[in-house]
Amino acid sequence: MVQTYKMYINGKWVESDSEETFTRVNPATLEAIGKFQKGNEKDVDEAVDAAEDAFEEWSEMPAPKRGEILFKVGQLLKENKEELAKTITQEMGKVLAEARGDVQEAIDIAFYMAGEGRRLFGHTTTSELKDKFAMTIRRPIGVVGLITPWNFPIAIPSWKIMPSLICGNTIIFKPSCDTPLCAIKFVEILEEAGIPKGVINLVTGPGGSAGMHLIKHKKVRAISFTGHRDTGEEILRTAGIKRVGLELGGKNPIIIMDDADLNLALDGVIWGGYGTTGQRCTAASRVIIHEKIKSKFEKMLVERIKKLKLGNGMDEETDVGPLVNQAAQEKSKSYIDIGLKEGAKLLIGGHIPKMKGYFFEPTLFTDCLVDMRIAQEEIFGPVVSLIEAKDLTEAIEIANSVEYGLSSAIYTNNIRNAFKSIEKLEAGLTYVNASTIGAEVHLPFGGVKFSGTTREAGIEGINEFSEVKTVYVDYSGKLQRAQMDD
Ligand code: NAD
Repeated sequence: MVQTYKMYINGKWVESDSEETFTRVNPATLEAIGKFQKGNEKDVDEAVDAAEDAFEEWSEMPAPKRGEILFKVGQLLKENKEELAKTITQEMGKVLAEARGDVQEAIDIAFYMAGEGRRLFGHTTTSELKDKFAMTIRRPIGVVGLITPWNFPIAIPSWKIMPSLICGNTIIFKPSCDTPLCAIKFVEILEEAGIPKGVINLVTGPGGSAGMHLIKHKKVRAISFTGHRDTGEEILRTAGIKRVGLELGGKNPIIIMDDADLNLALDGVIWGGYGTTGQRCTAASRVIIHEKIKSKFEKMLVERIKKLKLGNGMDEETDVGPLVNQAAQEKSKSYIDIGLKEGAKLLIGGHIPKMKGYFFEPTLFTDCLVDMRIAQEEIFGPVVSLIEAKDLTEAIEIANSVEYGLSSAIYTNNIRNAFKSIEKLEAGLTYVNASTIGAEVHLPFGGVKFSGTTREAGIEGINEFSEVKTVYVDYSGKLQRAQMDD
C-alpha cells in the first residue's frame, strides 16, 4: 500500500484543502514512492499567514541563537545522511555516491550558515560631517518563498533555507513535484532541530498553481527560485515589485587545449557530462576541443563512454542512473533527432535502452557547429556535443556563443591560456584543470547572462536573504546638512 504524506504548515502536518494528491514514482523501477498533497492557493495563504505570525519572534531571536539551531540541523542531517541519500536515489535516480554528496552539501551549508550567525556583517565608514557616525546593518527581509527543482533535492533547498533562517526570515518552501519525499524528510529534520512553528512551512504541489500564487502573494517579500530558464522568466514577469533571485540553466563548456593532460580532461568530461545523468545545471554539455587532438580525444572518450554502466543508482556499481521522468527521457530523444537533422555525427549512444525505467544511453555527438541547437540549448540529459576550435581565441568565442553563462572549464598546462580563459569566459564559474562541477558552499555560486540573476552560498548567499539598512548617528547636537555644511 502506497503511503500518503502530508504538508507542513504552522508546525503541523496537514492535508491540502484541495483534497487531492499526486503520486511520485521511482524513475529506475517505476514503482510508486508515495502520494503527496496537491497544495493549492488556500494552502499557500495559510502558510504565508503562519510565516507572517512567526516572523517577529524568529527575527528578534539573536542570530547566534538561530545559529545554534542551524548547527543542530547540520548534526541531524549528518546522522541521517545515509537514509536521506537513499531517498534521493529512490526519488530522482541519482547514483547513491552522488546522493551522499547532495546531503553532504546540505550539512556543509548548515554548519557554514550557523557560523554566520556570529558575523552577519555590515560595515562602518567615515561621514562627510564632524561628529557623525555612519554604518550599515543587516535586517531580515520578512516572509520569503523558496521554489526549488528536483536535481539536488536536499542541497538546493538547503542553499536557500539555511541563509534565509540565519538572516531571520520565515519561509514557505515549494519543492519540485518530482522530489516531494526528500522535501518532507528535510523538513522533518528542521522540525526535530527545534525550528519554531510557522518559521518553515512546506507546501507540496504544482508550480503553475501553488508556486504562482506564492509568487503573486503580496505578503511574500522575496522569491528565490532555482529551475528552468522559461519558468524563471515567467516568475520575473509575474512577481512585480518584489525581490527575485533566479538560478537558471546552463550550456557549460569544457575547453581542451592541445597542451592539456588528456587523461585528466577525459575524467573531467566523463564526470561533468554524464554524472547525474547530465542533469546538473553545471553539467559539461559542450566539449570545445583543439583541432590537433580532436580525433585522438574522440577515440579515448568513446572507449570510456562504452564502459559506463547504466542502472539503478542504488547499485554501487552503477555509473549512470535514469533520467528523472518520462518527459526528460523524451526530451533527450528529441535532441538526438534534432542533432542528426542538423548534420552532427553521432559517435555513440542516442537511444532509449530496452530496460525498465527512464534510462537513456550516454551519448556523444561530434562535428557540431556552434549554432546547432544541440550546441546551444540545455538538454539536461547525458548528451555531450563536441565542437572543434583552431586556437584559444576561437575556443573562447565558441564557449561564449550561447545565451547561458553558468559554469565553464579549461584543461591546459599553459598559464597564459588559463588566465586568458579566467578573464574572458562569460560564466559565473571557471574551473582550471577541473570539470565544470564541484561547487563548495563557502564560495558564491551563480551565473551570468540567462543563467540567473543572483549568487547563492558563501557570503553572497547572505546578501540574497537580507536587507541592508544604512544608519547615520549624529552626535553633534546641532542641525548638520549633508552636502551643504562643512
Ligand atoms: P522547473 O523550472 O520546471 O521547476 C522548478 C520549480 O519551479 C519546481 O518546484 C516547479 O514546481 C516550480 N514551477 C514550475 N512552474 C512554475 C510556475 N509557473 N510558477 C512557479 N513555480 C513553478 O525546473 P526543473 O525541471 O525542476 O529543474 C531543472 C532546471 O533547473 C534546469 O534548467 C537546470 O539547469 C536548473 N537548475 C539550475 C541550478 C542553478 O543553481 N543555476 C541548479 C539546479 C537546476
